[in-house]
Parts: sequence; structure tokens; C-alpha cells
Amino acid sequence: MPAPPAERPDPDHRPRPARLWRPRRVLVTPAALDFAHGRAMVARAEAMGLPVERLSANRLTGLRDADPRQAYIAAKATLAITVAPPTKLRLQPIPPSADWRFDLAEGCPAHCQYCYLAGSLQGPPVTRAYANLDAILDNLAAYAGQGAVTSASAERAHEGTTFEASCYTDPLGIEHLTGSLSAAIRHFGAWDAPVQLRFTTKFAAVAPLLDLPHNRRTRIRFSVNARPAARYEGGTDPLDARLAAMGAMARAGYPVGLTIAPIIPVAGWEAAYAGLIRDAADALAGIPDLDLTVELITHRFTPISKTVLRGWYPGSDLPLDEADRVEKRTKFGTVKHVFPKPLMQAMRAHLTDRLARDLPAARVLYWT
Ligand code: SF4
Repeated sequence: MPAPPAERPDPDHRPRPARLWRPRRVLVTPAALDFAHGRAMVARAEAMGLPVERLSANRLTGLRDADPRQAYIAAKATLAITVAPPTKLRLQPIPPSADWRFDLAEGCPAHCQYCYLAGSLQGPPVTRAYANLDAILDNLAAYAGQGAVTSASAERAHEGTTFEASCYTDPLGIEHLTGSLSAAIRHFGAWDAPVQLRFTTKFAAVAPLLDLPHNRRTRIRFSVNARPAARYEGGTDPLDARLAAMGAMARAGYPVGLTIAPIIPVAGWEAAYAGLIRDAADALAGIPDLDLTVELITHRFTPISKTVLRGWYPGSDLPLDEADRVEKRTKFGTVKHVFPKPLMQAMRAHLTDRLARDLPAARVLYWT
């Protein structure tokens, strides 16, 4: 699905009301209804006029289809309010993005043709929002003060222990239905320890977050890409809306970030990425006490993610030709296909040069 046309930022710097996801199906399990947060999410859906199906069992069934494209379409239009399993409370380190990963939800309503979740989700990509929010947040305290040291974590050591909430979801894209992200921001804002909540988003509906007591303990990073790559990001908010939202969050005192990803050598990539960095600089111009980081992530794929993406997006022209890539072994022995070294070096030099020139306040955390 192509991304909608770009919008220009509002001159008064307040973000425009963003398009809000309306799932075609909302399911809730009996166990989720035992939690106040589960019931609150049901109330949010019903207040939006969405009928909620109350399931008789806690397992989600009947979501598979022999045709992966049909299963994908149905799943992407479904929100399931469920309880996070106990495994979700055993946190995993997630370098270089953060010290620890935790999940408020799993799945997201967007349709990125390169989706990072392809091949890592079990079953069709239904968005699951977790009702046991208090347990998920209370569990984080056991991990504060711990974390492996990496070059990226050394760069942000002054921020304390970092917790990443967007490895398996886009928490802002579903916030109007969950309220979980606001609760997490409040939780970190009130936490009496050096900690930071981090999440990445391709959405722009930040208005409910602007006045929260965040205490500068949440860094919101906007996942952005060069304009020619926008057509690979269906169902997301337009680039200009995301940049305007980033400016609004920075003016509200939040630390912010740019996640430029996935970097793809589209035709005219030098000018396209230079333009992106200039647009980001314009969106952040004149903001006092700007705290800005940048993460630079090139496109890669694995044999499994390619198979899943071909099933989800059979008509996509996203470049996934192994002949144009080189193989890289992960520490688990699996293969990923990345760009050849000379191209990687050229893209890295160009982007970091433009960042230094147009966004000198930015701290580049990593290139991968
Ligand atoms: Fe996948 Fe992230 Fe795009 Fe959602 S926003 S479809 S999780 S890549």
C-alpha cells in the first residue's frame, strides 16, 4: 500500500490530528478482562464505535489462512486485547538500541514492505495489546542498573539503564486504543533512578503525550526515510507529519531521536538523504535544550524474512536480490544479506557528513 501524500508541518508547530487506526476486528480474551487496563482498552475501542468480540477462551484461533496474503490482510486489521505471557517478563538485552527490551504490545497496524517483524512473529501478524500493564511496568525495576556496555550504550551512559518498547510494535500507532504508552511515560517520569524509556515510531499522533510528566526520561525516536522510500511504508503517517511531531515533542522537553531506516540506495540516494536531513533540521530549528540522537540502519534481509515478505507483499518492488548483497553471519550463525562494503562506506560517509553539516547538535549513536 503506498504511503499517503506528504503534508507540510503546521506553522504554529502543533502537530495536526493524525490519522488514527480503526481495526476492523477487536477481540478481547477472558483473562484480559480480569485487568483494569484490559477493560479500559475495551472502553477505548467501544468509545470509537468499534464492536468488541468477547472471546470464550484465551487462545486466539481461526486466524490462519492457506493464502499468506489473505491471512496477513485479516490479521493486520485485527486488534487482540490479551495478557502478555510470563516469557515477556524475562527481558532480553537489545544492543545497540537499548539495554533491555520490553513489550507493551506485539504487532502494528502499518504495512511496511520491509517489515522488521517478518519472520519473527508467531502466526499471522495480529496486533496484540497487553492488559497486564502494571505487571509489565513493575517488572522493569529488577533490570535497572544492569546492562551490557556497548559503544552505543557508552554514548548514552548518562541516561542510565535504557528500556526499548518498540522492538515488536509501534506503541504510538496504537496509543489511542491502548493508553499503554502514556502510562509507561508516566511510570518512567516518576521513577527515582537513572532510567530511560525509548521507543521508535512511524506515527505522528503525539498530542496526548505533550503534557505528560515525562521528566525527560523518555526518548521518542521518529523512524524516517528518504522521500523516494516512503512508498514502502504503507499505513504510516507521512514524513512531514512525523517531523512536525518530532518538533512538537522536542518543544515539550522530550529527548528526541531520528532513526533513519532502512537506508536504501534508491535512485538519487545522495540528494534524497541529504534532503531528509535538511527537512529534519528545519523541523528542529530554534528549539532550546534540544537533546537529539541519530541511529543509522541500512536495509538487510534474511532468507526467512524474504520468504515472509514475498507472501505478504507479492507485488512489491523492494530490492531483495541476493546478487546485489553480501552475506553476513550473525552471532547465532544465521545469514543476513547486507549491502557490499564499498556502498556501505559511501552511504555512511555521506549521511554522517550531512548530519555534521545540517544537524551538528545530533549525537550519532550507531551505524549498522
Ligand atoms: Fe513492521 Fe515497524 Fe512497519 Fe510496523 S512500523 S509494519 S512493525 S516495520
